[in-house]
Amino acid sequence: MAIRTDIYKSALRDYDAVKSTSEAVKNDMKKRLYDENPELGLIDKKINNAGFEAAKKIIKHPDKKQEISDELKKMLAKLNLEKSMAYSRIGITEDYFDKAYRCPKCHDTGFVDGKECTCFRQYLIDKAYGKALLNDSSERETFNNFRLDYYSKTMKAENGLSYYDNMRLVYMSCMKFAECFESEHSNILLMGKTGLGKTFLCNSIARYVLERGYTVIYISAGRLFKTLQEEQFNNSDEAEMSSFYDDLITVDLLIIDDLGTEFPTVLTGSQIFNILNERIVGERSTVISTNMMLDGIKTQYSDRVLSRLTDSFEFLTLYGEDIRIKKKLIEQ
Ligand SMILES: [Zn+2]
Repeated sequence: MAIRTDIYKSALRDYDAVKSTSEAVKNDMKKRLYDENPELGLIDKKINNAGFEAAKKIIKHPDKKQEISDELKKMLAKLNLEKSMAYSRIGITEDYFDKAYRCPKCHDTGFVDGKECTCFRQYLIDKAYGKALLNDSSERETFNNFRLDYYSKTMKAENGLSYYDNMRLVYMSCMKFAECFESEHSNILLMGKTGLGKTFLCNSIARYVLERGYTVIYISAGRLFKTLQEEQFNNSDEAEMSSFYDDLITVDLLIIDDLGTEFPTVLTGSQIFNILNERIVGERSTVISTNMMLDGIKTQYSDRVLSRLTDSFEFLTLYGEDIRIKKKLIEQ
């Protein structure tokens, strides 16, 4: 992940602050637990003493270091077992204190085994590109909240299916994409008029994938091309110039919303081609939503963009009565 140094440093500081708060919560929890269950404190004391005594013995008898260490290991194993049993008698598990932390994986340090935790990587993305995903409106936009009954069972789509049946297939495909995200590196192109639920589905996919610990960049086509253009023309710092592009290529899931609504320049065609191409080669999934039809994509970008999409993307077309559905989706 190529994030600007100042953002990275500030993210580390944010994590330090969060960690301090979490540690304080943990200490409170521990104090309460130990006050109510003094036997836990006694076991901890025994564990500390065992280490201390072993260290003293080694200083006195350095020749018996191995023997003393082996003895200590056995003793600690016994005491830790005793501790687990005490925990289960109280009805709690070893991960009891995890809930003090925002991320149970890294305990809010941002790192697991020296590598950036996925929560930290996503935090960097949100900090660099805005928290598009986690605003109030998108919170409700999940697969569970998607209402198929807004789509007519009598009106027919161009493919011969009712709007309802067509939408059911689209919904299932998006769901499958999100569920199989780790094992299959597939891509989706969501096509259809405004107000039929494309953004809702994009948000549902994003949330599902994000909650499973993957990194997601969710960006409108307008902002994507504008940011690329700014990097291109403000090339004072070479390293920073390439960072946005690198992030677009390396993020686990890239969602480009509303392709075709951006201000077209001579560069957009080659930029979108390069992004799609590199992501396909790198086996990273992309979701695109657009109001355009395939011939429009061909005209606005190029043949090779269209052929990249045709080769590697699943095409899902949404049909429906836009205003009615849009209104209901908003009212939900
Ligand atoms: Zn984490």
